[in-house]
Amino acid sequence: MSSTADALLLFGATGDLAQRMLLPSLCALHSDGLLDPDLRIVGTARSEMSDAEFRNFARAALEKFMPANRRSGMADFLNRLSYQPLDVKDPAGFKAVAEKAARPGEKLAIFLSTAPSLFETTIKGLQGAGLTGEGARISLEKPLGIDLASSREINDAVAAAFPESRIFRIDHYLGKETVQNLIALRFANIMFEPLWNSQHIDHVQITVAETVGLESRVDFYDEAGALRDMVQNHMLQLLALVAMEPPTSFDSSAVRDEKVKVLRALRPIGPGESVTGQYRAGATGGQIVPGYDEELGRESDTETFVALKAHVDNWRWKGVPFYLRTGKRLPKRRTEILVQFRCIPHSIFSGTRTVPNQLLIGIQPEENITLSLMAKVPGLDREGMSLRAVPLEIAMPDAFTGVHRRIAYERLLLDLIECDQTLFVRRDEVEAQWAWVDAIREQWRKEGLTPRTYSAGSWGPSAAIALAERDGVSWHE
Ligand code: NAP
Repeated sequence: MSSTADALLLFGATGDLAQRMLLPSLCALHSDGLLDPDLRIVGTARSEMSDAEFRNFARAALEKFMPANRRSGMADFLNRLSYQPLDVKDPAGFKAVAEKAARPGEKLAIFLSTAPSLFETTIKGLQGAGLTGEGARISLEKPLGIDLASSREINDAVAAAFPESRIFRIDHYLGKETVQNLIALRFANIMFEPLWNSQHIDHVQITVAETVGLESRVDFYDEAGALRDMVQNHMLQLLALVAMEPPTSFDSSAVRDEKVKVLRALRPIGPGESVTGQYRAGATGGQIVPGYDEELGRESDTETFVALKAHVDNWRWKGVPFYLRTGKRLPKRRTEILVQFRCIPHSIFSGTRTVPNQLLIGIQPEENITLSLMAKVPGLDREGMSLRAVPLEIAMPDAFTGVHRRIAYERLLLDLIECDQTLFVRRDEVEAQWAWVDAIREQWRKEGLTPRTYSAGSWGPSAAIALAERDGVSWHE
Protein backbone atom coordinates (compact mmCIF):
# COMPACT_ATOMS: atom_id res chain seq x y z
CA MET A 1 0.00 0.00 0.00
CA SER A 2 1.35 3.45 -0.90
CA SER A 3 2.38 5.61 2.02
CA THR A 4 2.05 8.83 0.01
CA ALA A 5 -0.04 11.42 1.81
CA ASP A 6 -3.43 12.43 0.42
CA ALA A 7 -3.38 15.82 2.13
CA LEU A 8 -0.82 18.22 3.57
CA LEU A 9 -1.86 20.33 6.55
CA LEU A 10 0.40 23.34 6.92
CA PHE A 11 0.44 25.17 10.26
CA GLY A 12 1.93 28.67 10.13
CA ALA A 13 0.73 29.00 6.53
CA THR A 14 0.84 32.81 6.67
CA GLY A 15 4.37 32.97 8.14
CA ASP A 16 7.68 34.00 6.67
CA LEU A 17 8.92 30.45 6.07
CA ALA A 18 5.69 29.44 4.36
CA GLN A 19 5.83 32.45 2.05
CA ARG A 20 9.52 32.31 1.17
CA MET A 21 10.16 28.57 1.09
CA LEU A 22 7.24 26.19 1.65
CA LEU A 23 4.62 27.51 -0.78
CA PRO A 24 7.21 28.12 -3.55
CA SER A 25 8.65 24.62 -3.02
CA LEU A 26 5.22 23.01 -3.19
CA CYS A 27 4.39 25.01 -6.31
CA ALA A 28 7.66 23.89 -7.96
CA LEU A 29 6.92 20.24 -7.13
CA HIS A 30 3.42 20.67 -8.55
CA SER A 31 4.70 22.31 -11.75
CA ASP A 32 7.11 19.41 -12.30
CA GLY A 33 4.31 16.86 -11.91
CA LEU A 34 5.79 15.44 -8.69
CA LEU A 35 2.68 15.83 -6.54
CA ASP A 36 -0.22 13.44 -6.84
CA PRO A 37 -2.96 15.30 -8.75
CA ASP A 38 -5.33 14.62 -5.87
CA LEU A 39 -3.06 15.89 -3.07
CA ARG A 40 -4.85 18.66 -1.17
CA ILE A 41 -2.94 21.38 0.68
CA VAL A 42 -4.72 22.95 3.63
CA GLY A 43 -3.17 26.03 5.25
CA THR A 44 -3.93 27.20 8.76
CA ALA A 45 -2.93 30.11 11.04
CA ARG A 46 -4.82 32.59 13.22
CA SER A 47 -5.45 35.17 10.45
CA GLU A 48 -9.04 35.12 9.27
CA MET A 49 -9.14 34.23 5.58
CA SER A 50 -11.42 32.40 3.20
CA ASP A 51 -10.05 29.81 0.75
CA ALA A 52 -10.09 32.43 -2.00
CA GLU A 53 -8.28 34.97 0.16
CA PHE A 54 -5.61 32.44 1.07
CA ARG A 55 -5.10 31.62 -2.61
CA ASN A 56 -4.58 35.32 -3.29
CA PHE A 57 -2.17 35.48 -0.37
CA ALA A 58 -0.27 32.47 -1.72
CA ARG A 59 -0.24 33.94 -5.25
CA ALA A 60 1.35 37.13 -3.93
CA ALA A 61 4.00 35.08 -2.06
CA LEU A 62 4.79 33.00 -5.16
CA GLU A 63 5.06 36.10 -7.34
CA LYS A 64 7.43 37.63 -4.83
CA PHE A 65 9.60 34.65 -3.99
CA MET A 66 9.60 32.39 -7.09
CA PRO A 67 11.43 33.12 -10.32
CA ALA A 68 8.92 33.84 -13.09
CA ASN A 69 10.18 30.90 -15.20
CA ARG A 70 9.31 28.46 -12.38
CA ARG A 71 5.72 29.65 -11.99
CA SER A 72 4.24 27.93 -15.04
CA GLY A 73 1.90 25.74 -12.99
CA MET A 74 0.93 28.42 -10.49
CA ALA A 75 -2.73 28.86 -11.39
CA ASP A 76 -3.35 25.13 -11.23
CA PHE A 77 -1.34 24.83 -8.01
CA LEU A 78 -3.45 27.48 -6.30
CA ASN A 79 -6.53 25.33 -6.90
CA ARG A 80 -5.09 22.72 -4.55
CA LEU A 81 -5.06 25.19 -1.68
CA SER A 82 -7.67 25.76 0.97
CA TYR A 83 -7.51 27.46 4.36
CA GLN A 84 -8.97 27.14 7.82
CA PRO A 85 -8.32 29.82 10.47
CA LEU A 86 -7.29 28.42 13.85
CA ASP A 87 -5.68 29.64 17.02
CA VAL A 88 -3.95 26.47 18.17
CA LYS A 89 -4.59 27.53 21.76
CA ASP A 90 -8.28 26.90 21.13
CA PRO A 91 -8.77 23.09 21.27
CA ALA A 92 -12.33 23.34 19.92
CA GLY A 93 -11.08 24.97 16.73
CA PHE A 94 -9.31 21.79 15.59
CA LYS A 95 -12.61 20.17 14.64
CA ALA A 96 -13.05 22.54 11.71
CA VAL A 97 -9.45 21.89 10.60
CA ALA A 98 -10.05 18.13 10.76
CA GLU A 99 -13.18 18.48 8.65
CA LYS A 100 -11.22 20.37 6.00
CA ALA A 101 -7.98 18.38 6.02
CA ALA A 102 -8.87 14.78 6.81
CA ARG A 103 -11.09 12.25 5.09
CA PRO A 104 -11.68 8.72 6.38
CA GLY A 105 -8.98 6.27 5.29
CA GLU A 106 -6.71 9.02 3.94
CA LYS A 107 -3.12 9.73 4.93
CA LEU A 108 -2.25 13.13 6.28
CA ALA A 109 1.13 14.90 6.33
CA ILE A 110 1.28 17.68 8.93
CA PHE A 111 3.93 20.42 8.85
CA LEU A 112 4.39 22.65 11.89
CA SER A 113 5.91 25.91 10.68
CA THR A 114 5.11 27.77 13.88
CA ALA A 115 7.08 28.72 16.97
CA PRO A 116 8.15 25.58 18.89
CA SER A 117 6.39 26.97 21.97
CA LEU A 118 3.14 26.09 20.13
CA PHE A 119 4.13 22.50 19.24
CA GLU A 120 2.80 20.81 22.38
CA THR A 121 -0.54 22.64 22.29
CA THR A 122 -0.88 21.93 18.59
CA ILE A 123 -0.17 18.24 19.03
CA LYS A 124 -2.74 17.95 21.81
CA GLY A 125 -5.26 19.71 19.57
CA LEU A 126 -4.46 17.34 16.69
CA GLN A 127 -4.86 14.37 19.01
CA GLY A 128 -8.18 15.65 20.30
CA ALA A 129 -9.45 16.02 16.74
CA GLY A 130 -8.36 12.49 15.76
CA LEU A 131 -5.63 13.72 13.39
CA THR A 132 -2.77 11.64 14.79
CA GLY A 133 -3.96 8.20 13.64
CA GLU A 134 -1.97 5.64 11.67
CA GLY A 135 -1.91 7.44 8.34
CA ALA A 136 -0.69 10.70 9.89
CA ARG A 137 2.91 11.93 10.04
CA ILE A 138 4.26 15.16 11.43
CA SER A 139 7.15 17.43 10.51
CA LEU A 140 8.69 19.94 12.90
CA GLU A 141 10.76 23.01 12.10
CA LYS A 142 13.78 23.90 14.16
CA PRO A 143 14.60 25.00 16.82
CA LEU A 144 13.77 21.84 18.73
CA GLY A 145 14.31 23.33 22.14
CA ILE A 146 17.00 25.56 23.57
CA ASP A 147 18.80 22.79 25.49
CA LEU A 148 18.58 19.06 26.10
CA ALA A 149 15.82 19.37 28.71
CA SER A 150 13.53 21.52 26.57
CA SER A 151 14.26 19.39 23.52
CA ARG A 152 13.23 16.29 25.50
CA GLU A 153 10.02 18.03 26.48
CA ILE A 154 9.18 18.71 22.84
CA ASN A 155 10.20 15.20 21.81
CA ASP A 156 8.10 13.68 24.61
CA ALA A 157 5.09 15.75 23.60
CA VAL A 158 5.38 14.61 19.97
CA ALA A 159 6.08 11.01 20.99
CA ALA A 160 2.86 10.98 23.04
CA ALA A 161 0.94 11.26 19.77
CA PHE A 162 3.22 9.92 17.02
CA PRO A 163 5.71 7.02 16.90
CA GLU A 164 9.27 7.93 15.85
CA SER A 165 8.64 6.35 12.43
CA ARG A 166 6.11 9.13 11.74
CA ILE A 167 8.10 12.10 13.11
CA PHE A 168 10.08 14.20 10.62
CA ARG A 169 12.46 16.68 12.28
CA ILE A 170 13.78 19.18 9.78
CA ASP A 171 17.37 20.30 9.45
CA HIS A 172 17.10 21.97 6.08
CA TYR A 173 20.84 21.53 5.46
CA LEU A 174 20.12 17.84 4.87
CA GLY A 175 17.84 18.83 1.99
CA LYS A 176 20.64 20.64 0.18
CA GLU A 177 22.03 18.93 -2.92
CA THR A 178 25.66 19.54 -1.93
CA VAL A 179 25.16 18.09 1.52
CA GLN A 180 23.70 14.92 0.01
CA ASN A 181 26.56 14.99 -2.45
CA LEU A 182 28.92 14.55 0.46
CA ILE A 183 27.38 11.10 0.92
CA ALA A 184 27.83 10.39 -2.80
CA LEU A 185 31.41 11.65 -2.77
CA ARG A 186 32.38 9.46 0.16
CA PHE A 187 30.45 6.30 -0.63
CA ALA A 188 30.09 6.20 -4.43
CA ASN A 189 33.83 6.58 -5.04
CA ILE A 190 36.56 4.12 -4.10
CA MET A 191 39.38 6.62 -3.82
CA PHE A 192 38.46 8.55 -0.67
CA GLU A 193 37.52 5.84 1.80
CA PRO A 194 41.02 4.29 2.19
CA LEU A 195 42.36 7.77 2.98
CA TRP A 196 39.45 8.90 5.15
CA ASN A 197 41.02 8.39 8.57
CA SER A 198 43.59 9.71 11.02
CA GLN A 199 46.45 8.09 9.16
CA HIS A 200 45.92 10.34 6.14
CA ILE A 201 43.81 13.26 7.32
CA ASP A 202 45.45 15.99 9.41
CA HIS A 203 42.31 17.92 10.30
CA VAL A 204 38.88 18.99 9.06
CA GLN A 205 37.47 22.53 8.99
CA ILE A 206 33.77 23.32 8.77
CA THR A 207 32.84 26.96 8.20
CA VAL A 208 29.37 28.50 8.06
CA ALA A 209 29.97 32.20 7.47
CA GLU A 210 27.22 34.79 7.09
CA THR A 211 27.57 38.42 6.04
CA VAL A 212 24.20 39.40 7.47
CA GLY A 213 23.73 40.71 10.98
CA LEU A 214 20.62 40.47 13.10
CA GLU A 215 17.75 39.99 10.73
CA SER A 216 14.07 39.86 11.51
CA ARG A 217 14.10 37.13 14.21
CA VAL A 218 15.78 39.41 16.72
CA ASP A 219 14.50 37.99 20.01
CA PHE A 220 14.95 34.43 18.83
CA TYR A 221 18.57 35.03 17.84
CA ASP A 222 19.47 36.94 20.95
CA GLU A 223 18.19 34.06 23.06
CA ALA A 224 19.87 31.40 20.93
CA GLY A 225 23.27 32.74 19.81
CA ALA A 226 25.56 31.19 17.21
CA LEU A 227 26.22 27.97 19.10
CA ARG A 228 22.57 27.00 19.38
CA ASP A 229 21.44 28.55 16.09
CA MET A 230 24.09 27.00 13.83
CA VAL A 231 26.40 24.55 15.57
CA GLN A 232 23.83 22.45 17.43
CA ASN A 233 22.03 21.49 14.24
CA HIS A 234 23.51 22.28 10.81
CA MET A 235 27.21 22.11 11.67
CA LEU A 236 26.95 18.95 13.73
CA GLN A 237 24.97 17.31 10.93
CA LEU A 238 27.76 18.23 8.49
CA LEU A 239 30.36 16.91 10.91
CA ALA A 240 28.42 13.66 11.31
CA LEU A 241 28.23 13.16 7.54
CA VAL A 242 31.97 13.75 7.18
CA ALA A 243 32.92 11.47 10.07
CA MET A 244 30.38 8.62 9.93
CA GLU A 245 31.25 5.05 9.04
CA PRO A 246 29.87 3.77 5.72
CA PRO A 247 26.19 2.89 6.25
CA THR A 248 25.09 -0.48 4.87
CA SER A 249 22.50 1.20 2.64
CA PHE A 250 21.06 4.61 1.90
CA ASP A 251 18.02 4.22 4.08
CA SER A 252 16.75 6.09 7.07
CA SER A 253 17.86 3.64 9.77
CA ALA A 254 21.29 2.81 8.34
CA VAL A 255 22.31 6.44 7.71
CA ARG A 256 20.98 7.77 11.00
CA ASP A 257 22.48 4.88 13.00
CA GLU A 258 25.92 5.87 11.72
CA LYS A 259 25.42 9.60 12.28
CA VAL A 260 24.33 9.15 15.88
CA LYS A 261 27.43 7.06 16.68
CA VAL A 262 29.58 10.04 15.63
CA LEU A 263 27.50 12.52 17.62
CA ARG A 264 27.82 10.34 20.71
CA ALA A 265 31.58 10.05 20.17
CA LEU A 266 32.12 13.82 20.30
CA ARG A 267 34.52 14.58 23.14
CA PRO A 268 33.32 17.33 25.48
CA ILE A 269 35.03 20.59 24.54
CA GLY A 270 37.84 21.33 26.97
CA PRO A 271 39.17 24.64 28.35
CA GLY A 272 40.76 26.73 25.61
CA GLU A 273 39.01 24.79 22.83
CA SER A 274 36.32 27.40 22.17
CA VAL A 275 36.23 31.10 21.30
CA THR A 276 33.13 33.28 21.18
CA GLY A 277 32.70 36.71 19.68
CA GLN A 278 30.21 39.48 19.08
CA TYR A 279 30.50 41.92 16.17
CA ARG A 280 31.00 45.62 16.53
CA ALA A 281 30.47 48.27 13.85
CA GLY A 282 32.51 47.73 10.72
CA ALA A 283 32.08 47.22 6.99
CA THR A 284 30.79 44.30 4.95
CA GLY A 285 30.23 44.28 1.20
CA GLY A 286 31.47 47.88 0.98
CA GLN A 287 28.81 49.07 3.45
CA ILE A 288 29.25 50.52 6.91
CA VAL A 289 27.20 48.43 9.32
CA PRO A 290 26.36 48.90 13.02
CA GLY A 291 27.44 46.60 15.83
CA TYR A 292 25.25 43.86 17.30
CA ASP A 293 24.29 45.84 20.40
CA GLU A 294 23.31 48.83 18.25
CA GLU A 295 21.14 46.63 16.03
CA LEU A 296 19.62 45.00 19.10
CA GLY A 297 19.11 48.32 20.88
CA ARG A 298 20.70 47.11 24.11
CA GLU A 299 23.76 45.37 25.44
CA SER A 300 23.81 41.59 25.28
CA ASP A 301 26.13 38.69 26.07
CA THR A 302 24.96 36.64 23.11
CA GLU A 303 27.68 35.26 20.87
CA THR A 304 27.38 36.03 17.16
CA PHE A 305 30.53 34.04 16.44
CA VAL A 306 31.87 30.76 17.73
CA ALA A 307 34.96 28.73 16.89
CA LEU A 308 35.51 25.27 18.34
CA LYS A 309 38.12 22.58 18.22
CA ALA A 310 36.21 19.31 18.36
CA HIS A 311 37.32 15.67 18.51
CA VAL A 312 35.52 12.49 17.56
CA ASP A 313 36.74 9.85 19.99
CA ASN A 314 36.87 6.69 17.92
CA TRP A 315 39.48 4.63 16.05
CA ARG A 316 39.03 6.38 12.71
CA TRP A 317 39.44 9.94 13.99
CA LYS A 318 41.93 9.54 16.83
CA GLY A 319 43.98 12.75 17.01
CA VAL A 320 42.19 14.53 14.12
CA PRO A 321 40.78 17.90 15.18
CA PHE A 322 37.55 19.17 13.62
CA TYR A 323 37.68 22.96 13.64
CA LEU A 324 34.20 24.49 13.47
CA ARG A 325 33.60 28.18 12.88
CA THR A 326 30.43 30.15 12.32
CA GLY A 327 29.48 33.78 12.66
CA LYS A 328 27.50 36.76 11.49
CA ARG A 329 28.94 39.81 9.74
CA LEU A 330 31.93 37.85 8.42
CA PRO A 331 33.57 38.96 5.15
CA LYS A 332 31.92 36.35 2.91
CA ARG A 333 28.78 34.27 2.87
CA ARG A 334 30.14 30.77 2.61
CA THR A 335 29.45 27.26 3.89
CA GLU A 336 32.26 24.82 3.23
CA ILE A 337 34.07 21.76 4.49
CA LEU A 338 37.83 21.48 4.13
CA VAL A 339 39.53 18.12 4.51
CA GLN A 340 43.25 18.66 5.00
CA PHE A 341 45.32 15.60 4.17
CA ARG A 342 48.69 14.89 5.77
CA CYS A 343 52.12 15.48 4.20
CA ILE A 344 53.59 12.75 2.02
CA PRO A 345 55.82 10.54 4.20
CA HIS A 346 58.99 11.20 2.18
CA SER A 347 59.72 13.66 -0.59
CA ILE A 348 61.92 12.69 -3.53
CA PHE A 349 61.92 16.31 -4.75
CA SER A 350 64.84 18.05 -3.13
CA GLY A 351 64.76 21.83 -3.08
CA THR A 352 61.01 22.15 -3.52
CA ARG A 353 58.21 21.89 -1.00
CA THR A 354 55.20 19.64 -1.49
CA VAL A 355 51.96 21.08 -0.21
CA PRO A 356 49.63 18.50 1.41
CA ASN A 357 46.49 17.75 -0.59
CA GLN A 358 43.21 19.43 0.35
CA LEU A 359 39.64 18.54 -0.49
CA LEU A 360 37.35 21.55 -0.35
CA ILE A 361 33.61 20.99 -0.52
CA GLY A 362 31.68 24.21 -1.17
CA ILE A 363 28.08 23.97 -0.01
CA GLN A 364 26.85 27.52 -0.49
CA PRO A 365 26.70 29.87 -2.28
CA GLU A 366 29.03 28.09 -4.74
CA GLU A 367 28.47 24.37 -5.00
CA ASN A 368 31.80 22.94 -5.95
CA ILE A 369 34.39 20.34 -5.07
CA THR A 370 38.06 21.24 -5.36
CA LEU A 371 40.90 18.79 -4.84
CA SER A 372 44.30 20.43 -4.67
CA LEU A 373 47.05 18.28 -6.14
CA MET A 374 50.77 18.82 -6.61
CA ALA A 375 51.81 19.14 -10.25
CA LYS A 376 55.02 19.83 -12.11
CA VAL A 377 55.54 23.39 -13.26
CA PRO A 378 56.36 23.19 -17.02
CA GLY A 379 60.06 23.69 -17.73
CA LEU A 380 63.37 21.94 -18.20
CA ASP A 381 64.00 21.44 -14.50
CA ARG A 382 67.75 22.05 -14.77
CA GLU A 383 67.83 22.61 -11.03
CA GLY A 384 65.40 19.92 -10.02
CA MET A 385 61.69 19.51 -10.62
CA SER A 386 59.61 22.50 -9.71
CA LEU A 387 56.18 21.75 -8.21
CA ARG A 388 53.02 23.72 -7.51
CA ALA A 389 49.61 22.94 -6.00
CA VAL A 390 46.92 23.08 -8.68
CA PRO A 391 43.17 22.73 -8.21
CA LEU A 392 41.12 19.94 -9.74
CA GLU A 393 37.75 21.62 -9.63
CA ILE A 394 34.23 20.45 -10.30
CA ALA A 395 31.58 23.17 -10.30
CA MET A 396 28.37 21.23 -9.72
CA PRO A 397 26.09 23.50 -11.79
CA ASP A 398 28.50 23.11 -14.76
CA ALA A 399 28.82 19.35 -14.32
CA PHE A 400 25.04 19.03 -14.41
CA THR A 401 23.97 21.70 -16.87
CA GLY A 402 20.36 21.27 -17.88
CA VAL A 403 19.53 19.45 -14.63
CA HIS A 404 17.33 21.62 -12.44
CA ARG A 405 18.82 22.14 -8.97
CA ARG A 406 16.18 22.13 -6.29
CA ILE A 407 16.03 24.05 -3.05
CA ALA A 408 16.20 22.03 0.17
CA TYR A 409 12.50 22.35 1.04
CA GLU A 410 11.39 20.84 -2.28
CA ARG A 411 13.24 17.66 -1.40
CA LEU A 412 12.16 17.65 2.23
CA LEU A 413 8.49 18.33 1.54
CA LEU A 414 8.38 15.59 -1.10
CA ASP A 415 10.06 13.14 1.29
CA LEU A 416 7.54 14.06 3.99
CA ILE A 417 4.64 13.54 1.59
CA GLU A 418 6.15 10.21 0.45
CA CYS A 419 7.15 9.22 4.02
CA ASP A 420 10.92 8.81 3.58
CA GLN A 421 12.79 9.77 6.77
CA THR A 422 16.40 9.43 5.55
CA LEU A 423 17.04 13.18 5.39
CA PHE A 424 15.27 13.99 8.66
CA VAL A 425 16.86 14.02 12.10
CA ARG A 426 16.06 11.25 14.57
CA ARG A 427 15.38 11.92 18.23
CA ASP A 428 18.61 10.30 19.44
CA GLU A 429 20.61 12.53 17.05
CA VAL A 430 18.97 15.74 18.27
CA GLU A 431 19.49 14.75 21.88
CA ALA A 432 23.15 13.79 21.35
CA GLN A 433 23.65 17.18 19.66
CA TRP A 434 22.06 19.02 22.57
CA ALA A 435 24.01 17.05 25.18
CA TRP A 436 27.29 18.13 23.55
CA VAL A 437 26.21 21.75 23.13
CA ASP A 438 24.87 21.99 26.70
CA ALA A 439 28.26 20.84 28.01
CA ILE A 440 29.95 23.63 26.02
CA ARG A 441 27.62 26.23 27.50
CA GLU A 442 28.27 24.82 30.96
CA GLN A 443 32.01 25.10 30.31
CA TRP A 444 31.56 28.75 29.27
CA ARG A 445 29.59 29.38 32.44
CA LYS A 446 32.29 27.83 34.61
CA GLU A 447 35.04 29.78 32.85
CA GLY A 448 32.98 32.98 32.99
CA LEU A 449 33.58 33.26 29.25
CA THR A 450 31.96 36.24 27.55
CA PRO A 451 32.17 37.04 23.82
CA ARG A 452 35.23 38.93 22.57
CA THR A 453 34.50 41.72 20.16
CA TYR A 454 35.32 41.64 16.44
CA SER A 455 34.78 44.19 13.72
CA ALA A 456 32.00 43.48 11.27
CA GLY A 457 33.67 42.37 8.04
CA SER A 458 36.50 40.50 9.79
CA TRP A 459 36.87 36.74 10.33
CA GLY A 460 36.02 36.99 14.03
CA PRO A 461 38.13 37.66 17.12
CA SER A 462 41.88 37.12 16.83
CA ALA A 463 41.61 34.40 19.48
CA ALA A 464 39.76 32.30 16.90
CA ILE A 465 42.74 32.54 14.58
CA ALA A 466 45.01 31.60 17.48
CA LEU A 467 42.81 28.57 18.28
CA ALA A 468 43.89 27.01 14.98
CA GLU A 469 47.35 28.61 14.65
CA ARG A 470 48.42 27.06 17.95
CA ASP A 471 48.21 23.70 16.14
CA GLY A 472 49.98 25.05 13.07
CA VAL A 473 46.65 25.25 11.21
CA SER A 474 45.34 28.24 9.21
CA TRP A 475 41.64 28.72 8.63
CA HIS A 476 40.72 28.49 4.98
CA GLU A 477 39.72 31.97 3.77
P1 NAP B 1 6.51 33.63 11.52
O1 NAP B 1 6.72 34.43 10.29
O2 NAP B 1 6.45 34.32 12.84
O3 NAP B 1 5.17 32.80 11.31
C1 NAP B 1 4.53 32.12 12.37
C2 NAP B 1 3.26 31.51 11.87
O4 NAP B 1 2.57 30.95 12.97
C3 NAP B 1 2.33 32.49 11.21
O5 NAP B 1 1.66 31.86 10.14
C4 NAP B 1 1.34 32.81 12.32
O6 NAP B 1 0.18 33.24 11.71
C5 NAP B 1 1.22 31.45 12.99
N1 NAP B 1 0.78 31.52 14.38
C6 NAP B 1 1.31 32.28 15.38
N2 NAP B 1 0.64 32.07 16.52
C7 NAP B 1 -0.33 31.16 16.25
C8 NAP B 1 -1.36 30.54 17.02
N3 NAP B 1 -1.52 30.81 18.31
N4 NAP B 1 -2.15 29.66 16.41
C9 NAP B 1 -2.00 29.37 15.10
N5 NAP B 1 -1.06 29.91 14.31
C10 NAP B 1 -0.23 30.80 14.88
O7 NAP B 1 7.60 32.47 11.68
P2 NAP B 1 8.45 31.79 10.52
O8 NAP B 1 9.66 32.60 10.28
O9 NAP B 1 7.57 31.44 9.37
O10 NAP B 1 8.96 30.47 11.25
C11 NAP B 1 8.14 29.35 11.46
C12 NAP B 1 8.97 28.26 12.12
O11 NAP B 1 10.05 27.93 11.26
C13 NAP B 1 9.61 28.69 13.43
O12 NAP B 1 9.73 27.57 14.26
C14 NAP B 1 10.99 29.14 13.02
O13 NAP B 1 11.93 29.06 14.07
C15 NAP B 1 11.28 28.12 11.94
N6 NAP B 1 12.28 28.58 10.97
C16 NAP B 1 12.06 29.68 10.20
C17 NAP B 1 13.00 30.08 9.28
C18 NAP B 1 12.78 31.27 8.40
O14 NAP B 1 13.64 31.50 7.55
N7 NAP B 1 11.71 32.01 8.55
C19 NAP B 1 14.17 29.34 9.14
C20 NAP B 1 14.37 28.20 9.93
C21 NAP B 1 13.40 27.84 10.84
P3 NAP B 1 -0.94 34.18 12.38
O15 NAP B 1 -0.25 35.35 12.97
O16 NAP B 1 -1.87 34.47 11.25
O17 NAP B 1 -1.53 33.28 13.38
